Amino acid sequence: MISERVKPLVANNSVIRVMFEEGKRLAALYGSENVFDFSLGNPNVPAPDEVKEAILDVLEEEDSTFVHGYMSNAGYEDVRETVACSLNKRFGTNFSGNNILMTVGAASGLNIILKTILNPGDEVIVFAPFFLEYGNYVRNYDGELVVVAPNTVDFQPNLEEFEQKITDRTRAVIINSPNNPTGVVYSDKTLRAIAQILQRKECEFGNAIVLISDEPYRELAYDGVEVPYVTKYYADTVVCYSYSKSLSLPGERIGYLVIPDELKDSAQVITAVAIVNRVLGCVNAPSLMQRVIKRCIERNASVDLAAYDRNRERLYQGLKECGFTCIKPEGAFYLFVKSPVEDEKAFCAKAEKHNLLLVPGSSFACPGYVRIAYCVSYEQIERSMPAFRALAKEYL
Ligand code: PLP
Repeated sequence: MISERVKPLVANNSVIRVMFEEGKRLAALYGSENVFDFSLGNPNVPAPDEVKEAILDVLEEEDSTFVHGYMSNAGYEDVRETVACSLNKRFGTNFSGNNILMTVGAASGLNIILKTILNPGDEVIVFAPFFLEYGNYVRNYDGELVVVAPNTVDFQPNLEEFEQKITDRTRAVIINSPNNPTGVVYSDKTLRAIAQILQRKECEFGNAIVLISDEPYRELAYDGVEVPYVTKYYADTVVCYSYSKSLSLPGERIGYLVIPDELKDSAQVITAVAIVNRVLGCVNAPSLMQRVIKRCIERNASVDLAAYDRNRERLYQGLKECGFTCIKPEGAFYLFVKSPVEDEKAFCAKAEKHNLLLVPGSSFACPGYVRIAYCVSYEQIERSMPAFRALAKEYL
């Protein structure tokens, strides 16, 4: 019954999801306070109060047939205008509502832009380590994923190999900063270099190469680090944004795509993405959430970043004291720790014996490392420290 296309998806069902289930099993056995599940990137910091207020206000103040009705496939015009204005204010860009397509989160935004631009056999370049769903999304449209090997020195992209891997079939490049799973923020220097390489290659091959900037973690940056706005570096950029992490609303499925006027064939792409949104079956982004997002932007709503920062500091220092090595992340809510043995899956299995659930780096095309998601309570981090120490003693 299951199609040939779907069979491999079932066979390779997400390790992270499987671990999530394993966490629930262990919690039932040992008590949830004794199981330290660092596997899933599910925000633990609550959505800001403005979200609830906005939901109530929308339901009280706006006409219900409008709030719950169909609208243009691209989203409500006033919501898209509000998103564009706020981006212009923050980043000095020049967008209008026309450049914004409201989406069912980043996952949907990525699928929409990939379906819009890919022909079968087109190549999409990603930098390891990367969010493994990218491969599924690219294959949804018969594209081919091309992986640039990780630069484990600082986890900025490996630019030499990147340049070598661009061919006349390269249609897009996906970047993700702040990064899942490393927490690294791509620097101004990195983005400049990526832009220069792409400009050169566009000229060489006479093809547009779209830089897709996947930004669900844009607002999660620490120590005042700047997350540069990618459209300012390279004209053929599409931004894929989500409120899943920035407002702790992953279940609500809301985000947007930015299709700048500078993008090649921008007007056609803007028309196409709205049609693709419909054809993919999303039709439009959730209507109530669009109305809520408008109010949240107007009220400058944001999650409590200090809570993630506190977790980051505690876990980073704690792991360092145990003897583990990892670079200090500047963004997102992940630590990417070097496994003390080459086979990081064996290390994860050993960690599980201490009720520590960590995700192997091979789930992000970067074996030899493990991801620790610190979007958990501070108490969990504190309670987990003896387990990390005991784990370290087995190796270090
Ligand atoms: N891109 C990256 C790098 C992610 O980590 C995630 C979710 O964890 C997504 C995209 C999907 O986000 P959304 O919930 O907005 O679909």
